[in-house]
Amino acid sequence: MATGYVYHELYGWHDTGTQAGFFPADPRRGLQPFHHFEYSESKRRAHELVVVSGLIDRLTRLAPRPATDEEILAVHTPAQLERLVGLNDTGGDAGDGGTKFGVGGVDIARLAAGGAITAVQAVLDSAVDTAYALVRPPGHHAVAEQGMGFCVLANIAIAIKAARETHGLERVAVVDFDVHHGNGTQAAFYADPTVLKISLHQDRFFPGNSGFSTERGEGAGFGYTLNLPLPPGTGNGGYQEAFKRVVIPALDRFHPDLIIIAAGYDSSALDPLGRMMITPKGYRALTSMLVEAAGRHCGGRIVGVHEGGYNESYTPFCLLAVLEELAGVEEPFPSPFGLDNLGQQELQPHQEKVIKEAEKLLKDIHC
Ligand SMILES: [Zn+2]
Repeated sequence: MATGYVYHELYGWHDTGTQAGFFPADPRRGLQPFHHFEYSESKRRAHELVVVSGLIDRLTRLAPRPATDEEILAVHTPAQLERLVGLNDTGGDAGDGGTKFGVGGVDIARLAAGGAITAVQAVLDSAVDTAYALVRPPGHHAVAEQGMGFCVLANIAIAIKAARETHGLERVAVVDFDVHHGNGTQAAFYADPTVLKISLHQDRFFPGNSGFSTERGEGAGFGYTLNLPLPPGTGNGGYQEAFKRVVIPALDRFHPDLIIIAAGYDSSALDPLGRMMITPKGYRALTSMLVEAAGRHCGGRIVGVHEGGYNESYTPFCLLAVLEELAGVEEPFPSPFGLDNLGQQELQPHQEKVIKEAEKLLKDIHC
């Protein structure tokens, strides 16, 4: 079993600048200069743990290449690409005021989108069985006409469109367990019944007005957007139940040719932004269910693409768990963080309600 792994040092050099979280530092407003929430450390350290744990020796390194204009334009508007290219020499913001990049930042965003493309195509080429792209900046919030929520380019959507051109890829399921709603991926394929978009996220978090279970797609795509806005505090038990009763049955109805995980670790128990409680053990269990589903439906073809995750010490262990599961590692590197027995890790009644509602939507997914 070969698992491809994409990482590039330049991902750590994407410069989100001196910020106070997601606000520009402004002493007049009491906003002390610090770093942006989305700064390099959690991802850089995740990569370093992949190396130090020895997992790197079990992986096949894949070199990313920059996404081309044509690949980007399959998702983004010409005006947005032109604007980004115009800001590459100076640095700027991709659109919403919170999505900063430094000099050369658009080149790095191209390399992130290209990293997702590389991982997907390596799996479709059977060069590897599964793959993971530890890319930065993330992508699942970026929409056609603007970047948002720390995401410059829509990495996963770009990779799907590219794979359609090169490999005639047909049915793709995206399972997004980042704590935020995968609004960008949803928007890119909202009317498309050949891309199943499943997002499990913290209810009304970011974007604040999206990710409702009533957003179900439009036209022929109706039914192929499945949102589970879970209550804050949902842990391993709630997520695993949601996977068992909604995510996996949805995949079984859909029969994808490829599964992509929008792998965000801001749904972890120690994330500074999210308010969920998944632990490395939990991420491992969720990934295991997805790997099994990929085995049933698409010859095991599954690709993880990195999204959020902001705890610099904890995120690396969460990523490691997912990557070990994708690589079929039997003796995982132990996580020193024992948070599996936190109170209310098991399914709670108010979480059950959301799952029950989502179960009703499964009937509109067809093969
Ligand atoms: Zn996120």
